[in-house]
Amino acid sequence: MSTRRLLLVFAHPDDESFTSAVTIAKYAAKGVEISLVCATRGQAGSAGDPPLCSPGELPQVRERELREAAQILGIRHVEVLDYKDKHLSEVPQGILCEQIRQAIRSYRPQVVITFAPHGISGHPDHRAISSATSQAVRERSETLPVRKLYHCTIPSTSPQPPGRTLHTDPYEEITTEITAPTFVPTAARALLAHRTQHKSVEGVFPGITRGDLSRVRHVNHFILAWHNLPGYRIVGKENDLFAGIPASD
Ligand SMILES: [Zn+2]
Repeated sequence: MSTRRLLLVFAHPDDESFTSAVTIAKYAAKGVEISLVCATRGQAGSAGDPPLCSPGELPQVRERELREAAQILGIRHVEVLDYKDKHLSEVPQGILCEQIRQAIRSYRPQVVITFAPHGISGHPDHRAISSATSQAVRERSETLPVRKLYHCTIPSTSPQPPGRTLHTDPYEEITTEITAPTFVPTAARALLAHRTQHKSVEGVFPGITRGDLSRVRHVNHFILAWHNLPGYRIVGKENDLFAGIPASD
């Protein structure tokens, strides 16, 4: 079988760990070559409480945190674009889309993952990267190696973190569940590598900063948003992102 390659396209350092950590770690351990495009350095985020750096240092600190989390999860290539956090939706979609297509041409993934259109937290940057990635994959798809595009999401049956309202999808609409409980400690280490974000990490996964990993997700949920596998049908729920992709791809 030829090398399996997965490309993640997100807006901020930490999106990868919040949405897909056990999935990334599981596929990296199987030898899948994983790449990540992150559109911003998260400079509008918190510097920590108390602050771990000055606002001016935050972009570099967050990029370093991202690279550390990526290494923990087994992501091979990390490409950080230079967009301003909170302003991604102001970038002309065609430009963002072309940068994503360039990454696809470089890394040649069979599978691409981005946010669901609602962006889970609803952040406008999450929505913008979802939209641009969808356009990048779908337009002139015959010129690209991508076979499947997934939207990461959470099912409406999941408990909401305290004090937060996340966008979800009905469980019936979720096509794909990746379950990997053995990678929960790895996922937790990646989340905690985003040290400046400890408050939001603790907010979404209560207890994690005290070593309680019971709220760290051992299963990630995805919706197969697009594919170009003629005749491919999902019966029940998929448990493999690469299901249906020819071995020779
Ligand atoms: Zn984000």
